[in-house]
Amino acid sequence: MYPLTHFLFTLVFAYTLFPFESAVIIAVLSVLFDLDHFLYHLAKKKNPNFIVCWNNAVLGKEHERTFIHHLPGFLVVSGLVFFIAFLNSTVALAIAIAYYTHMFLDYIHFKPKETKKKSKWFGLLFAPTLYEILLDIILVIILFFFALVI
Ligand SMILES: [Zn+2]
Repeated sequence: MYPLTHFLFTLVFAYTLFPFESAVIIAVLSVLFDLDHFLYHLAKKKNPNFIVCWNNAVLGKEHERTFIHHLPGFLVVSGLVFFIAFLNSTVALAIAIAYYTHMFLDYIHFKPKETKKKSKWFGLLFAPTLYEILLDIILVIILFFFALVI
């Protein structure tokens, strides 16, 4: 999933429980969980070029999921959320929403076999599936509805 989809999905979810400003911060945190792709790229390829890292991820040349996206990372983050809940339950809930919505989207990600149409904006490759584009549109409509109601 692209950062925009992670952002919108988490924003919709978080906005049902938090004020809009807090929901935006939680949505940004959800996007930041994918920084592990870049850290992996830095460590493995010794190349600090973000555009190369992005394009490799879009083309499927890099490992799509790193430590934090697998069971050990899931257990570590869940353990952190558990202990943070004793200190501040609101912060724990915010981290939980950011992480679990991110993981949910990553694991339901549907990859069609057919070749995706690719476009390049400012050097960054984009090849979203039709499903992801439709999901983004639905999420924007839901946010628009929230803006009218809340
Ligand atoms: Zn991810």
